[in-house]
Amino acid sequence: MPSELELRLHLNENPYPPLPEVRKALAAELDAVNRYPEFTPDTLIGMVADWLGVTRDRVAVGNGSVGLALHVLDLCTGPGDEVVYGWRSFDAYPLITEMAGAESVEVPLTAAGHQDLPGILAAVTPRTRVVVLCNPHNPTGTVIGRDALEEFLGALPERITVILDEAYHEFGRDPGLPDGLRHLAAHPNLVVLRTFSKAYGLAALRVGYCVAAPVVAGRVRGRSLPYGISHLAQVAVAESLRAQKQLTARVDAIVAERDRLRDGLARLGWHTFPSQANFLWIDAGSRSEVLAAELARAGALVRCYPDEGLRLTVGSREADDLVLRAAGSVPSATA
Ligand code: PMP
Repeated sequence: MPSELELRLHLNENPYPPLPEVRKALAAELDAVNRYPEFTPDTLIGMVADWLGVTRDRVAVGNGSVGLALHVLDLCTGPGDEVVYGWRSFDAYPLITEMAGAESVEVPLTAAGHQDLPGILAAVTPRTRVVVLCNPHNPTGTVIGRDALEEFLGALPERITVILDEAYHEFGRDPGLPDGLRHLAAHPNLVVLRTFSKAYGLAALRVGYCVAAPVVAGRVRGRSLPYGISHLAQVAVAESLRAQKQLTARVDAIVAERDRLRDGLARLGWHTFPSQANFLWIDAGSRSEVLAAELARAGALVRCYPDEGLRLTVGSREADDLVLRAAGSVPSATA
């Protein structure tokens, strides 16, 4: 029987506990928690920039990628300004838009769970300051292809900042999936957001990074609180960057497990979108609540959107087997 933690499948977390070397590095630093971390996380910024192969002036790190997204919205918007994004999406987008004092403009996804790029362009008004794109998309796992992204960026007025949220980038295997970093040179209004929470399994430590034009990254860095990234978080990231090979192998295993889970659900008659992230969207419609209740009865916590669908993190093999057994006991629309 998988553990209670393994059955937390509602937050798109990494199912693996910290690598032994990350745990060891953290343990070694515990005796120094009475000391402040670096005033500004310059060492961490340097490490991330070198790892990505970009100049340091293009990078900012923050309290999760969601913290950085809020900084960008704070910088770019004010009362009466609009932030446009596809919906449904990551729940934080409306929250941080409201925190920034701006207004959300939500453009419905297509029936296949894609962000409607022409629809987003059509929703732009003189008051639009920011567009948020999520790639791969939460909660559907679908992707915006390289050409579609480039076309969109080319069509959008340059005065509008584009936050390209690539929280799940590392789980993508579709050769058409763009790498936002490659679009930065041509689009100075682009801000690419990534995180150590998902593929790197450090969600509790809250470290995200953004890569943007130097002037934008500098303004984001300017909003960081002194001592804002904990020393333990910095140590864990540094060690994770050294352990790239092991972490990539884990991501590969999650991707293989995602495909196994998707096939298993399909065999049971449950339709999912082709996900490039570490979760699946089950297109369960009116069956969503019944399915979520059955999964809960079996011990698995998932994210249910009544009458729409259900988002389920790819878990350990044992957790996913339990999900498949439970899903098999609920009649699907097509079974
Ligand atoms: N972006 C998306 C699309 C997410 O789904 C999440 C987490 N659920 C985040 C960002 C937040 O990541 P972080 O932990 O870096 O704040």
